[in-house]
Amino acid sequence: MNATYCIIGAGAAGIGAGHGLSRLGEDDFLILEREARIGGRAAAEKDASGFLWEPEPRPLCERFKTFTRLVDDLLGPDAPRTPRSAWVRAGGAWVPQPFQRNLRYLPALQRLECLRGLLGAALTRAGDPGGAAQPETLARWLELTYGPGIARLYLAPQQAKALGAPCEELDWRWAAQCLAPADLDALLETLILERDDTGHGPDAVVRTPAFGGSGELLRRMSKRLRERILIGQEVVRVDPVARVAHLRGGGEVGYAHLFSTMPLDQLVGAVLDDPPEAVRRAGAALRHASALAVGVGLRAPRPRPGQDSAHWMEFPQDNCPFHRVTHLHNFAPGRVPEAGARALLAELSWRGPRPEPVEAMIRSVLEGLENVSLLAPGGRDEVAALWHAERSRAVPLPDLGRDAALRTIMPYLEAQGIASRGLLGGWRHEVGELDQCVMQGIEWARRVVHGEPETVYCA
Ligand SMILES: Cc1cc2nc3c(=O)[nH]c(=O)nc-3n(C[C@H](O)[C@H](O)[C@H](O)COP(=O)(O)OP(=O)(O)OC[C@H]3O[C@@H](n4cnc5c(N)ncnc54)[C@H](O)[C@@H]3O)c2cc1C
Repeated sequence: MNATYCIIGAGAAGIGAGHGLSRLGEDDFLILEREARIGGRAAAEKDASGFLWEPEPRPLCERFKTFTRLVDDLLGPDAPRTPRSAWVRAGGAWVPQPFQRNLRYLPALQRLECLRGLLGAALTRAGDPGGAAQPETLARWLELTYGPGIARLYLAPQQAKALGAPCEELDWRWAAQCLAPADLDALLETLILERDDTGHGPDAVVRTPAFGGSGELLRRMSKRLRERILIGQEVVRVDPVARVAHLRGGGEVGYAHLFSTMPLDQLVGAVLDDPPEAVRRAGAALRHASALAVGVGLRAPRPRPGQDSAHWMEFPQDNCPFHRVTHLHNFAPGRVPEAGARALLAELSWRGPRPEPVEAMIRSVLEGLENVSLLAPGGRDEVAALWHAERSRAVPLPDLGRDAALRTIMPYLEAQGIASRGLLGGWRHEVGELDQCVMQGIEWARRVVHGEPETVYCA
């Protein structure tokens, strides 16, 4: 087989690339997908009790006009919008997101600690307008940017739990793109006038498909690409000189341009023929975190005044192993088998080998849910369904060596006609949300066809 454009993976980025090409009138492309289904990480799964689970359920963000138009066209009223209801449990209080803009919810002592730290950080910056005091790690950047109080109570432990690695070992250069800034002036208003300041971030309005999970958008996008997507086709070798992708089982696809969304470390370390030693070493230096998502289905409602409509809750503290619990029943009623049932999805991350057997981790999740009062004490009888998904390569880590490794790998791939994009393909989690992955695919198509520069993935 031959195709001008060959795309590895039918997840958000791969389907985005196919969509982009077909919108530009380019039909000579193939999407090769290893699994028997499309959607990649955004694929959802209904269990025998009727709960609809997925490992990383997040709202469809509205960061890009092109993406919002796509959601409007393909999902329209099937993806209603609601204001975000997201909470952080810290300092013994529930603080609405963004935490750093809603400190008035904290008890007085912690409020003072956070404000004092924020003020100190602002004064330090004012005394150092050239930014001579450059941080080395994320831990230091959080302190310099938000002050030690906010860093200690929320941002440092939350990032460490979510990324499975201590902030002392992580780079900071990606963080300003992802974390809401604190604003002293706005904070003063919230404190003195007792107002909330919750409308920040690309998910300030939560938009989720009414059925089918996050992958419903990708399913509808792929309908237009049907005959170009080949499922059950794993790329096991790429010869960048002959420009041929070899498939497990012996098939091959000749191409002029390759768009890969498979994990970058695997592409460079095991699939690509004879990369230079420096590129191979840079690929081996990329680190990832693994993750376990545990779904807990409950038939009985457990009212929590104030947070009943929560979309998700974050838990930086150490009385539970998870960093976030998503309340899927508030994403869409179709996620649960009947009205009143609840679907809680807890996520935990780690680096290196799994710390304990999955069964023990699930038991710790249930204990943690009791500790944070999402399950009644001893309330495991309420559990109507238990689901889990473990992913070995879940999060590409922004550690201190990542950017240098990417600076070695990406130009080499480009010179071979290969663009590696998407969450694990691009290895930049700060541009790895579903909308960003779709846009990376669309922008790559515009670049190879019309020479337009990419703006979402910048190496
Ligand atoms: C930290 C983090 C935050 C996130 N936040 C959000 C958020 O806020 N909002 C949101 O919408 N989403 C979020 N997500 C999840 C988001 O849904 C995914 O990141 C996105 O769907 C990834 O798309 P992708 O195409 O890059 O990868 P994938 O979905 O993994 O797709 C890659 C595809 O390639 C296939 N493949 C791999 N190797 C081969 C091979 N050798 N041959 C053929 N096929 C192969 C795989 O089977 C897979 O289908 C987040 C994820 C993370 C980790």
